[in-house]
Amino acid sequence: MQCHKIVQILRQKAVGEKIVVQGWVKTVRRSKSVSFIDINDGSCLTNLQVIAEQNQTTDENHLKDLSTGCSLRVTGTLAASPAKGQDIELQAETLEILGLAPDYPLQKKRHSFEYLREIAHLRPRTNSLGAVARIRSALSFAVHTFFQERGFFHIHTPIISTGDCEGAGETFTVTALDLENIPSSTNLASVWDDDFFGCQANLTVSGQLEAEAYAMALGNVYTFGPTFRAENSNTSRHLAEFWMIEPEMAFCNLQEDIDIAEQFIKYLVDTLLKDCLEDLELFASFIEKDLFKRLKNVSEKTFIRLSYTEAIAELQKSKKSFKFPVAWGMDLQSEHERYLTEVIFGQPVVLTDYPKTIKPFYMRVNEDQKTVAAMDVLFPGIGEIIGGSQREERQDNLVARMNELNMQTSEYEWYIDLRRYGTVPHAGFGLGFERMVQFVTGMKNIRDVIPFPRTPGSASF
Ligand code: ATP
Ligand code: MN
Repeated sequence: MQCHKIVQILRQKAVGEKIVVQGWVKTVRRSKSVSFIDINDGSCLTNLQVIAEQNQTTDENHLKDLSTGCSLRVTGTLAASPAKGQDIELQAETLEILGLAPDYPLQKKRHSFEYLREIAHLRPRTNSLGAVARIRSALSFAVHTFFQERGFFHIHTPIISTGDCEGAGETFTVTALDLENIPSSTNLASVWDDDFFGCQANLTVSGQLEAEAYAMALGNVYTFGPTFRAENSNTSRHLAEFWMIEPEMAFCNLQEDIDIAEQFIKYLVDTLLKDCLEDLELFASFIEKDLFKRLKNVSEKTFIRLSYTEAIAELQKSKKSFKFPVAWGMDLQSEHERYLTEVIFGQPVVLTDYPKTIKPFYMRVNEDQKTVAAMDVLFPGIGEIIGGSQREERQDNLVARMNELNMQTSEYEWYIDLRRYGTVPHAGFGLGFERMVQFVTGMKNIRDVIPFPRTPGSASF
Protein backbone atom coordinates (compact mmCIF):
# COMPACT_ATOMS: atom_id res chain seq x y z
CA MET A 1 0.00 0.00 0.00
CA GLN A 2 1.27 3.43 -0.90
CA CYS A 3 2.37 5.68 1.91
CA HIS A 4 0.59 8.99 2.32
CA LYS A 5 1.88 12.32 3.52
CA ILE A 6 -0.16 13.96 6.25
CA VAL A 7 -0.44 17.21 4.29
CA GLN A 8 -2.29 15.30 1.54
CA ILE A 9 -4.39 13.29 3.96
CA LEU A 10 -5.63 16.41 5.72
CA ARG A 11 -6.35 18.14 2.44
CA GLN A 12 -8.23 15.27 0.80
CA LYS A 13 -10.16 14.11 3.87
CA ALA A 14 -10.93 10.78 2.21
CA VAL A 15 -13.07 9.26 4.96
CA GLY A 16 -13.23 5.49 4.67
CA GLU A 17 -9.96 5.16 2.78
CA LYS A 18 -7.33 2.73 3.98
CA ILE A 19 -3.89 4.36 4.26
CA VAL A 20 -0.36 4.04 5.62
CA VAL A 21 1.32 6.89 7.48
CA GLN A 22 4.86 7.15 8.81
CA GLY A 23 6.14 9.81 11.14
CA TRP A 24 7.15 10.80 14.65
CA VAL A 25 5.02 10.92 17.74
CA LYS A 26 4.31 14.41 19.05
CA THR A 27 2.13 13.42 21.98
CA VAL A 28 0.44 10.34 23.38
CA ARG A 29 -2.63 10.35 25.60
CA ARG A 30 -3.90 7.13 27.04
CA SER A 31 -7.27 6.10 28.34
CA LYS A 32 -8.30 2.67 29.57
CA SER A 33 -8.46 0.87 26.27
CA VAL A 34 -7.31 3.31 23.61
CA SER A 35 -4.36 5.60 22.97
CA PHE A 36 -4.60 8.92 21.16
CA ILE A 37 -1.38 9.50 19.28
CA ASP A 38 -0.58 12.74 17.51
CA ILE A 39 1.78 11.94 14.69
CA ASN A 40 3.71 14.36 12.47
CA ASP A 41 5.67 13.54 9.34
CA GLY A 42 7.08 17.00 8.62
CA SER A 43 4.98 17.52 5.51
CA CYS A 44 3.00 20.22 7.31
CA LEU A 45 2.58 21.76 10.72
CA THR A 46 -0.60 19.92 11.68
CA ASN A 47 -0.47 16.47 13.23
CA LEU A 48 -2.69 13.55 12.38
CA GLN A 49 -4.51 11.97 15.30
CA VAL A 50 -4.22 8.21 15.43
CA ILE A 51 -6.62 6.15 17.55
CA ALA A 52 -5.06 2.88 18.62
CA GLU A 53 -6.53 0.11 20.68
CA GLN A 54 -4.37 -1.76 23.13
CA ASN A 55 -3.81 -4.86 20.97
CA GLN A 56 -2.74 -3.02 17.85
CA THR A 57 1.01 -3.27 18.01
CA THR A 58 3.17 -5.84 16.36
CA ASP A 59 4.37 -8.50 18.71
CA GLU A 60 7.76 -7.18 19.66
CA ASN A 61 6.56 -3.62 20.28
CA HIS A 62 4.23 -2.53 23.00
CA LEU A 63 2.06 0.52 23.03
CA LYS A 64 3.13 1.29 26.57
CA ASP A 65 6.66 2.07 25.30
CA LEU A 66 5.33 4.64 22.92
CA SER A 67 6.39 8.18 23.80
CA THR A 68 7.08 11.57 22.25
CA GLY A 69 9.80 11.29 19.61
CA CYS A 70 9.18 7.66 18.63
CA SER A 71 8.94 6.84 14.95
CA LEU A 72 5.93 4.89 13.73
CA ARG A 73 4.31 3.26 10.78
CA VAL A 74 0.55 3.05 11.02
CA THR A 75 -1.95 1.33 8.74
CA GLY A 76 -5.57 2.16 9.24
CA THR A 77 -8.77 3.70 7.99
CA LEU A 78 -9.58 7.40 7.91
CA ALA A 79 -12.69 8.34 9.85
CA ALA A 80 -14.55 11.54 10.57
CA SER A 81 -13.36 12.74 13.94
CA PRO A 82 -15.94 13.30 16.62
CA ALA A 83 -13.49 15.43 18.60
CA LYS A 84 -13.06 19.15 18.23
CA GLY A 85 -9.97 20.53 16.48
CA GLN A 86 -9.73 18.09 13.60
CA ASP A 87 -11.96 16.84 10.80
CA ILE A 88 -10.47 13.41 10.40
CA GLU A 89 -8.50 10.88 12.36
CA LEU A 90 -6.88 7.57 11.66
CA GLN A 91 -8.32 4.41 13.20
CA ALA A 92 -5.24 2.21 13.47
CA GLU A 93 -5.34 -1.39 12.33
CA THR A 94 -1.66 -2.15 12.64
CA LEU A 95 0.84 0.04 14.38
CA GLU A 96 4.54 -0.59 14.15
CA ILE A 97 7.06 1.22 16.31
CA LEU A 98 10.14 1.79 14.14
CA GLY A 99 12.29 3.51 16.73
CA LEU A 100 11.84 4.21 20.43
CA ALA A 101 12.89 7.52 21.98
CA PRO A 102 13.62 7.16 25.67
CA ASP A 103 14.69 10.44 27.36
CA TYR A 104 13.84 12.44 24.24
CA PRO A 105 15.10 16.00 24.83
CA LEU A 106 12.14 17.70 23.14
CA GLN A 107 9.20 17.50 25.45
CA LYS A 108 5.84 19.10 24.90
CA LYS A 109 6.68 22.30 26.77
CA ARG A 110 8.10 25.20 24.82
CA HIS A 111 11.88 25.33 24.76
CA SER A 112 13.93 28.51 24.39
CA PHE A 113 15.57 29.13 21.03
CA GLU A 114 18.92 29.31 22.82
CA TYR A 115 18.46 25.78 24.14
CA LEU A 116 17.29 24.55 20.75
CA ARG A 117 20.50 25.82 19.15
CA GLU A 118 22.39 23.37 21.35
CA ILE A 119 20.39 20.53 19.82
CA ALA A 120 20.36 21.87 16.27
CA HIS A 121 20.16 18.30 14.94
CA LEU A 122 16.82 17.74 16.69
CA ARG A 123 15.30 21.22 16.53
CA PRO A 124 13.77 20.78 13.04
CA ARG A 125 11.32 18.47 14.81
CA THR A 126 9.86 21.40 16.74
CA ASN A 127 6.89 23.27 15.30
CA SER A 128 8.73 26.55 14.84
CA LEU A 129 11.99 25.27 13.34
CA GLY A 130 10.07 22.86 11.13
CA ALA A 131 7.99 25.76 9.86
CA VAL A 132 11.13 27.82 9.23
CA ALA A 133 12.56 24.96 7.17
CA ARG A 134 9.41 24.67 5.03
CA ILE A 135 9.31 28.43 4.53
CA ARG A 136 12.99 28.49 3.53
CA SER A 137 12.29 25.83 0.95
CA ALA A 138 9.25 27.65 -0.45
CA LEU A 139 11.17 30.92 -0.53
CA SER A 140 14.10 29.37 -2.31
CA PHE A 141 11.81 27.90 -4.95
CA ALA A 142 10.09 31.28 -5.35
CA VAL A 143 13.47 32.94 -5.93
CA HIS A 144 14.12 30.65 -8.87
CA THR A 145 10.59 30.99 -10.19
CA PHE A 146 10.73 34.78 -10.12
CA PHE A 147 13.91 34.96 -12.15
CA GLN A 148 13.23 32.03 -14.46
CA GLU A 149 9.81 33.42 -15.38
CA ARG A 150 11.51 36.67 -16.34
CA GLY A 151 14.16 35.07 -18.54
CA PHE A 152 17.10 35.29 -16.14
CA PHE A 153 19.70 32.53 -16.28
CA HIS A 154 20.96 30.87 -13.13
CA ILE A 155 24.77 31.01 -12.96
CA HIS A 156 26.87 28.96 -10.55
CA THR A 157 29.60 31.36 -9.49
CA PRO A 158 32.64 29.93 -7.68
CA ILE A 159 32.77 29.41 -3.94
CA ILE A 160 36.54 29.54 -3.84
CA SER A 161 37.82 32.82 -5.16
CA THR A 162 41.11 34.62 -5.44
CA GLY A 163 41.50 38.35 -5.33
CA ASP A 164 39.53 39.90 -2.55
CA CYS A 165 36.93 42.24 -3.92
CA GLU A 166 35.35 43.98 -0.99
CA GLY A 167 36.01 42.51 2.36
CA ALA A 168 39.69 42.94 3.03
CA GLY A 169 40.26 41.10 6.29
CA GLU A 170 36.74 39.71 6.24
CA THR A 171 37.52 36.60 4.23
CA PHE A 172 38.27 33.04 5.22
CA THR A 173 41.47 31.78 3.66
CA VAL A 174 41.34 28.46 1.83
CA THR A 175 44.59 26.60 2.03
CA ALA A 176 46.05 23.13 1.55
CA LEU A 177 49.32 24.03 3.24
CA ASP A 178 50.54 21.96 6.14
CA LEU A 179 50.27 24.72 8.70
CA GLU A 180 52.54 22.92 11.13
CA ASN A 181 55.36 22.83 8.63
CA ILE A 182 55.58 26.25 7.03
CA PRO A 183 59.24 27.34 6.90
CA SER A 184 59.38 30.25 9.31
CA SER A 185 61.94 32.10 7.21
CA THR A 186 59.72 32.56 4.16
CA ASN A 187 57.63 35.67 3.85
CA LEU A 188 53.91 35.27 3.59
CA ALA A 189 53.57 36.26 -0.07
CA SER A 190 55.83 33.44 -1.21
CA VAL A 191 54.09 30.95 1.07
CA TRP A 192 51.02 31.20 -1.15
CA ASP A 193 53.16 30.42 -4.21
CA ASP A 194 53.52 26.90 -2.84
CA ASP A 195 49.88 26.61 -1.88
CA PHE A 196 47.31 24.62 -3.82
CA PHE A 197 46.20 27.42 -6.15
CA GLY A 198 49.57 29.15 -6.35
CA CYS A 199 48.14 32.22 -4.69
CA GLN A 200 46.06 33.12 -1.70
CA ALA A 201 42.52 31.86 -2.07
CA ASN A 202 39.46 32.52 0.03
CA LEU A 203 35.82 31.62 0.43
CA THR A 204 33.75 33.99 -1.64
CA VAL A 205 32.11 37.04 -0.07
CA SER A 206 29.97 37.62 -3.17
CA GLY A 207 29.42 36.16 -6.63
CA GLN A 208 28.86 39.56 -8.17
CA LEU A 209 32.03 40.09 -10.16
CA GLU A 210 31.74 36.72 -11.84
CA ALA A 211 28.01 37.27 -12.40
CA GLU A 212 28.89 40.50 -14.22
CA ALA A 213 30.97 38.51 -16.71
CA TYR A 214 27.96 36.32 -17.49
CA ALA A 215 25.56 39.27 -17.64
CA MET A 216 27.84 40.68 -20.35
CA ALA A 217 27.09 37.55 -22.37
CA LEU A 218 23.63 36.33 -21.38
CA GLY A 219 21.95 39.60 -20.48
CA ASN A 220 20.12 38.88 -17.25
CA VAL A 221 21.57 36.37 -14.80
CA TYR A 222 21.46 35.54 -11.11
CA THR A 223 23.47 33.53 -8.64
CA PHE A 224 22.10 32.01 -5.46
CA GLY A 225 24.78 30.50 -3.31
CA PRO A 226 26.56 30.48 0.00
CA THR A 227 28.79 33.42 0.91
CA PHE A 228 31.22 33.72 3.76
CA ARG A 229 32.29 36.62 5.94
CA ALA A 230 34.84 36.42 8.70
CA GLU A 231 33.51 39.65 10.20
CA ASN A 232 33.48 39.32 13.93
CA SER A 233 30.03 40.76 14.40
CA ASN A 234 28.08 38.80 16.92
CA THR A 235 24.70 40.28 16.08
CA SER A 236 21.25 38.84 15.54
CA ARG A 237 21.57 39.71 11.81
CA HIS A 238 25.02 38.37 10.89
CA LEU A 239 26.23 34.87 10.07
CA ALA A 240 29.70 33.78 8.98
CA GLU A 241 28.06 31.60 6.32
CA PHE A 242 24.90 32.83 4.68
CA TRP A 243 23.10 32.53 1.38
CA MET A 244 22.81 35.39 -1.06
CA ILE A 245 20.76 35.99 -4.17
CA GLU A 246 22.55 38.22 -6.65
CA PRO A 247 20.90 39.18 -9.93
CA GLU A 248 22.98 41.09 -12.46
CA MET A 249 21.33 42.82 -15.42
CA ALA A 250 22.93 44.17 -18.59
CA PHE A 251 21.44 47.34 -20.10
CA CYS A 252 20.04 48.34 -16.72
CA ASN A 253 20.33 51.52 -14.69
CA LEU A 254 19.86 52.20 -10.99
CA GLN A 255 16.15 53.00 -11.17
CA GLU A 256 15.43 49.79 -13.10
CA ASP A 257 17.57 47.90 -10.60
CA ILE A 258 15.41 49.21 -7.74
CA ASP A 259 12.23 48.38 -9.69
CA ILE A 260 13.32 44.75 -9.99
CA ALA A 261 14.37 44.56 -6.35
CA GLU A 262 10.96 45.87 -5.27
CA GLN A 263 9.03 43.50 -7.56
CA PHE A 264 11.21 40.64 -6.38
CA ILE A 265 10.58 41.20 -2.68
CA LYS A 266 6.85 41.67 -3.25
CA TYR A 267 6.73 38.48 -5.29
CA LEU A 268 8.45 36.53 -2.50
CA VAL A 269 6.08 37.85 0.14
CA ASP A 270 2.98 37.26 -1.98
CA THR A 271 4.06 33.71 -2.77
CA LEU A 272 4.46 32.88 0.89
CA LEU A 273 1.12 34.47 1.77
CA LYS A 274 -0.44 32.20 -0.85
CA ASP A 275 1.49 28.95 -0.25
CA CYS A 276 2.64 28.95 3.38
CA LEU A 277 -0.31 30.33 5.33
CA GLU A 278 -0.39 27.59 7.93
CA ASP A 279 3.26 28.05 8.83
CA LEU A 280 3.03 31.86 8.77
CA GLU A 281 0.06 31.69 11.16
CA LEU A 282 2.25 29.87 13.64
CA PHE A 283 4.70 32.78 13.62
CA ALA A 284 1.89 35.31 13.84
CA SER A 285 0.54 33.49 16.93
CA PHE A 286 3.77 32.83 18.79
CA ILE A 287 6.54 35.07 17.49
CA GLU A 288 5.21 38.33 16.12
CA LYS A 289 1.58 39.25 16.40
CA ASP A 290 1.76 41.97 13.73
CA LEU A 291 3.35 39.65 11.20
CA PHE A 292 0.57 39.73 8.61
CA LYS A 293 0.23 43.49 8.89
CA ARG A 294 3.95 43.81 8.26
CA LEU A 295 3.89 41.46 5.29
CA LYS A 296 0.93 43.25 3.73
CA ASN A 297 2.69 46.55 4.31
CA VAL A 298 5.55 45.30 2.13
CA SER A 299 3.33 43.66 -0.41
CA GLU A 300 0.92 46.57 -0.92
CA LYS A 301 2.82 49.81 -0.36
CA THR A 302 5.21 51.29 -2.89
CA PHE A 303 8.65 51.49 -1.33
CA ILE A 304 9.77 54.99 -0.37
CA ARG A 305 12.81 56.09 -2.40
CA LEU A 306 15.09 58.83 -1.23
CA SER A 307 18.73 59.74 -1.49
CA TYR A 308 21.28 59.19 1.23
CA THR A 309 21.65 62.98 1.45
CA GLU A 310 17.90 63.39 2.02
CA ALA A 311 17.95 60.61 4.60
CA ILE A 312 20.74 62.32 6.53
CA ALA A 313 18.66 65.50 6.53
CA GLU A 314 15.59 63.61 7.80
CA LEU A 315 17.59 62.02 10.60
CA GLN A 316 19.08 65.37 11.62
CA LYS A 317 15.64 66.97 11.54
CA SER A 318 14.37 64.31 13.95
CA LYS A 319 16.57 65.67 16.76
CA LYS A 320 16.85 62.16 18.12
CA SER A 321 20.10 61.45 19.92
CA PHE A 322 21.72 58.42 18.33
CA LYS A 323 24.63 56.44 19.68
CA PHE A 324 26.44 57.34 16.45
CA PRO A 325 25.76 61.05 15.73
CA VAL A 326 24.47 61.72 12.24
CA ALA A 327 26.75 63.48 9.77
CA TRP A 328 26.97 63.46 5.97
CA GLY A 329 29.61 60.96 4.88
CA MET A 330 29.05 58.46 7.66
CA ASP A 331 28.03 54.87 7.08
CA LEU A 332 24.51 54.47 8.41
CA GLN A 333 24.28 52.21 11.44
CA SER A 334 21.38 49.91 12.04
CA GLU A 335 19.93 52.36 14.60
CA HIS A 336 19.64 54.96 11.80
CA GLU A 337 18.28 52.48 9.27
CA ARG A 338 15.66 51.31 11.73
CA TYR A 339 14.69 54.85 12.74
CA LEU A 340 14.06 55.71 9.09
CA THR A 341 11.99 52.61 8.39
CA GLU A 342 10.25 52.20 11.73
CA VAL A 343 9.69 55.73 13.02
CA ILE A 344 9.92 58.22 10.16
CA PHE A 345 8.36 56.21 7.32
CA GLY A 346 6.89 53.05 8.87
CA GLN A 347 7.61 51.01 5.75
CA PRO A 348 10.45 49.80 3.53
CA VAL A 349 12.75 52.54 2.29
CA VAL A 350 15.23 52.48 -0.57
CA LEU A 351 18.18 54.79 -0.05
CA THR A 352 20.26 55.77 -3.06
CA ASP A 353 23.37 57.71 -4.01
CA TYR A 354 25.65 57.10 -1.05
CA PRO A 355 29.00 58.84 -0.60
CA LYS A 356 31.57 56.99 -2.68
CA THR A 357 33.95 56.81 0.28
CA ILE A 358 31.74 54.26 2.08
CA LYS A 359 30.96 52.08 -0.95
CA PRO A 360 33.02 49.59 -2.98
CA PHE A 361 35.09 50.42 -6.05
CA TYR A 362 32.73 48.96 -8.65
CA MET A 363 29.83 51.32 -8.06
CA ARG A 364 29.19 53.93 -10.74
CA VAL A 365 30.36 57.42 -9.80
CA ASN A 366 27.66 60.08 -10.12
CA GLU A 367 28.12 63.42 -11.86
CA ASP A 368 28.75 65.19 -8.58
CA GLN A 369 31.91 63.00 -8.25
CA LYS A 370 31.06 62.60 -4.57
CA THR A 371 28.35 59.97 -4.60
CA VAL A 372 27.82 56.65 -6.34
CA ALA A 373 24.75 55.01 -7.92
CA ALA A 374 24.20 52.72 -4.94
CA MET A 375 20.95 51.55 -3.43
CA ASP A 376 20.16 49.83 -0.14
CA VAL A 377 16.73 48.46 0.65
CA LEU A 378 16.00 48.95 4.33
CA PHE A 379 13.28 47.05 6.19
CA PRO A 380 11.53 47.77 9.47
CA GLY A 381 12.86 45.44 12.16
CA ILE A 382 15.80 44.25 10.07
CA GLY A 383 17.68 47.19 8.62
CA GLU A 384 19.56 46.49 5.41
CA ILE A 385 18.13 43.55 3.49
CA ILE A 386 19.42 44.39 -0.01
CA GLY A 387 22.55 46.16 -1.14
CA GLY A 388 22.96 47.00 -4.82
CA SER A 389 24.21 49.45 -7.39
CA GLN A 390 24.64 50.42 -10.99
CA ARG A 391 28.16 49.28 -11.82
CA GLU A 392 30.90 51.51 -13.18
CA GLU A 393 30.92 50.58 -16.86
CA ARG A 394 33.44 53.23 -17.95
CA GLN A 395 36.92 51.76 -18.08
CA ASP A 396 38.78 54.98 -17.22
CA ASN A 397 36.58 55.74 -14.24
CA LEU A 398 36.86 52.19 -12.95
CA VAL A 399 40.65 52.12 -13.14
CA ALA A 400 40.90 55.60 -11.60
CA ARG A 401 38.73 54.47 -8.71
CA MET A 402 40.81 51.34 -8.17
CA ASN A 403 43.98 53.42 -8.13
CA GLU A 404 42.41 55.82 -5.64
CA LEU A 405 41.82 52.84 -3.36
CA ASN A 406 45.35 51.45 -3.93
CA MET A 407 43.99 48.27 -5.45
CA GLN A 408 46.19 45.96 -7.50
CA THR A 409 44.68 46.45 -10.95
CA SER A 410 46.78 43.55 -12.24
CA GLU A 411 44.57 41.13 -10.28
CA TYR A 412 41.45 42.54 -11.88
CA GLU A 413 42.44 42.61 -15.54
CA TRP A 414 39.68 40.17 -16.36
CA TYR A 415 37.15 42.44 -14.67
CA ILE A 416 38.47 45.50 -16.51
CA ASP A 417 38.23 43.50 -19.76
CA LEU A 418 34.46 43.54 -19.34
CA ARG A 419 34.74 47.32 -19.87
CA ARG A 420 37.34 46.99 -22.63
CA TYR A 421 35.21 44.73 -24.79
CA GLY A 422 31.65 45.83 -25.42
CA THR A 423 30.89 47.52 -22.14
CA VAL A 424 27.25 48.34 -21.33
CA PRO A 425 25.44 50.03 -18.45
CA HIS A 426 24.56 47.32 -15.97
CA ALA A 427 23.33 46.92 -12.43
CA GLY A 428 22.50 44.34 -9.80
CA PHE A 429 21.98 43.70 -6.13
CA GLY A 430 22.39 41.16 -3.34
CA LEU A 431 19.58 39.96 -1.11
CA GLY A 432 20.59 38.19 2.07
CA PHE A 433 18.41 35.09 2.07
CA GLU A 434 18.41 34.61 5.85
CA ARG A 435 17.49 38.26 6.47
CA MET A 436 14.51 37.70 4.20
CA VAL A 437 13.54 34.54 6.12
CA GLN A 438 13.84 36.55 9.33
CA PHE A 439 11.55 39.19 7.95
CA VAL A 440 8.82 36.83 6.78
CA THR A 441 8.82 34.75 9.97
CA GLY A 442 9.49 37.47 12.53
CA MET A 443 12.24 35.30 14.02
CA LYS A 444 14.44 37.57 16.10
CA ASN A 445 17.76 35.80 15.68
CA ILE A 446 19.31 34.93 12.33
CA ARG A 447 20.79 31.78 13.92
CA ASP A 448 17.28 30.34 14.03
CA VAL A 449 16.46 30.69 10.34
CA ILE A 450 19.33 28.60 8.94
CA PRO A 451 19.63 24.88 9.73
CA PHE A 452 23.14 24.86 11.18
CA PRO A 453 24.39 28.40 11.88
CA ARG A 454 28.06 29.34 11.67
CA THR A 455 29.00 32.31 13.85
CA PRO A 456 32.14 33.45 15.67
CA GLY A 457 33.16 30.64 18.01
CA SER A 458 30.49 28.27 16.81
CA ALA A 459 30.40 25.75 13.97
CA SER A 460 29.09 22.60 15.65
CA PHE A 461 27.08 19.99 13.78
P1 ATP B 1 25.55 44.93 6.91
O1 ATP B 1 25.86 46.38 6.87
O2 ATP B 1 24.18 44.63 7.46
O3 ATP B 1 26.64 44.12 7.54
P2 ATP B 1 26.64 44.65 4.27
O4 ATP B 1 26.67 46.07 3.85
O5 ATP B 1 27.88 44.02 4.75
O6 ATP B 1 25.47 44.46 5.38
P3 ATP B 1 26.40 43.57 1.59
O7 ATP B 1 27.86 43.31 1.52
O8 ATP B 1 25.84 44.65 0.79
O9 ATP B 1 25.97 43.76 3.13
O10 ATP B 1 25.62 42.19 1.34
C1 ATP B 1 24.34 42.14 0.71
C2 ATP B 1 23.27 41.56 1.62
O11 ATP B 1 23.70 40.37 2.26
C3 ATP B 1 22.91 42.47 2.79
O12 ATP B 1 21.97 43.42 2.38
C4 ATP B 1 22.33 41.50 3.79
O13 ATP B 1 20.98 41.19 3.46
C5 ATP B 1 23.15 40.27 3.57
N1 ATP B 1 24.25 40.12 4.54
C6 ATP B 1 25.42 40.79 4.58
N2 ATP B 1 26.24 40.35 5.54
C7 ATP B 1 25.55 39.33 6.14
C8 ATP B 1 25.86 38.44 7.21
N3 ATP B 1 27.03 38.50 7.83
N4 ATP B 1 24.95 37.51 7.56
C9 ATP B 1 23.76 37.44 6.90
N5 ATP B 1 23.40 38.25 5.88
C10 ATP B 1 24.29 39.18 5.50
MN1 MN C 1 28.52 43.53 6.76
